[in-house]
Amino acid sequence: MKEECAVLGVYGSEEAAQLAYLGLYALQHRGQESSGIITSDGEQVHEHRGMGLVSKVFDEKTLARLGGHLAIGHNRYSTTGMSHIVNAQPFLVDCKIGKIAVAHNGNLVNAAALRREMEESGSIFRSTMDSEVILHLIARSERRAIHAMIADALGRVQGAYSLIFLVKDRLVAARDPRGFRPLCIGRLGDATILASESCAFDILGATYAREIEPGEMVVVDERGVESVRFAEPAPRLSRCIFEFIYFSRPDSRVFGENVDKIRRKLGRRLAEEAPAPADIVISVPDSSNTIALGYANASGLPFELGLIRNHYVGRTFIQPRQAARDWDVRIKFNPVRGVLKDRSIVVVDDSIVRGSTMRKLVRMLYAAGAAQVHLRIGAPPVTHSCYYGIDTPNRSELIAATHSTAEIESYLGVDSLRYLSVEGLRSCVDDPDNYCTACFSGEYPTVRNGVHPKDIFEHGCGCGGCEES
Ligand code: AMP
Repeated sequence: MKEECAVLGVYGSEEAAQLAYLGLYALQHRGQESSGIITSDGEQVHEHRGMGLVSKVFDEKTLARLGGHLAIGHNRYSTTGMSHIVNAQPFLVDCKIGKIAVAHNGNLVNAAALRREMEESGSIFRSTMDSEVILHLIARSERRAIHAMIADALGRVQGAYSLIFLVKDRLVAARDPRGFRPLCIGRLGDATILASESCAFDILGATYAREIEPGEMVVVDERGVESVRFAEPAPRLSRCIFEFIYFSRPDSRVFGENVDKIRRKLGRRLAEEAPAPADIVISVPDSSNTIALGYANASGLPFELGLIRNHYVGRTFIQPRQAARDWDVRIKFNPVRGVLKDRSIVVVDDSIVRGSTMRKLVRMLYAAGAAQVHLRIGAPPVTHSCYYGIDTPNRSELIAATHSTAEIESYLGVDSLRYLSVEGLRSCVDDPDNYCTACFSGEYPTVRNGVHPKDIFEHGCGCGGCEES
């Protein structure tokens, strides 16, 4: 299953659940469908999960029940249809070593094949989660030490994983050898914090220590933090470049870089590659704010706030019969007419996926009086689906997979449309060869012996005969 997520861990604080709650709050942008925290006092394990935002899932009472000095937490976003409480994480099971829980960010490309193999030999699965596959593999390991059992299990999985396990009296964190998804360590007094992004440390007053390395496992217990290498890092890493474009918060450090800095570079490079005859630059808040700032600075055009975003939009709302056309976009964005009227505008956005949001936004900008709309995208065309933890739809739904830029320009109804080039994107990071750009290039790093990740992911067959459609 495809999903986007946040993971968090706390070791060594009597308020572990409360810290995990705050950390998950800061990581809400990585997943809004469900949230959960599992804690332990070294003996008893407590859990609470629910559907919806962190603020809805937890209250003082539920947090008070989550006692202990260890906690792991998870925010989840997934494709519709799979939205169910049984899939909410962290996932907790009882096995021969006692209780073990896991929070997972990423996608295993061979989860379906492993699941089928284990089901054939009698395993029963409760959810459709990749994480459950990992727990089954751990439970089947013949090793004795927990980190060795986890290493055994990870030796069998392929794809993207940033994982945090809770085992009664310790936390174990691990990152796949290609380093697809971020995971970092921070310190808060004597406590250790683990998080997908460093913005979770800031809300807690914790300090950023370092990234967990690809192929590294970190065991956190009463003896401190021990680093164990369970696999050599891949000769070429596959850090997800989309974390910089859209997914991570600009105030975070991700893959050792400041997201804000990279996003400004994207905007600057976009302005060099694709200037536009315009009066002002606007962003589509909040995701493209920093890219638009970079574009404005490099082009010398003023940055204006032409769209205001309503931040209080939940995931479900009732559509009144009288609702205007494009109500779903109107509920989120409103144009500032005084800024837009009779102006020629550069609209900077981070990416176009299906194109439906932008089509509606463009109509809104013209209706507000914009004279011209020049759309500039801070990423190359998204032409391929992600199998490593970003929720992109099937390829057939990606507008750039089936339409030329000229066709998209006319579908969106803009005066001009230009994207950042793949080379331009690569020039914005320090070591571009260590990033995955599969969603833009179709070069999937886990293709082995000609077997496409789509085959393994969707069919669990690895037959090599299924075309990417
Ligand atoms: P659309 O083209 O209508 O599918 O939506 C594109 C917009 O969705 C982009 O401008 C991004 O801000 C946002 N976006 C891009 N990737 C994702 C993703 N994986 N999950 C959620 N939103 C995304």
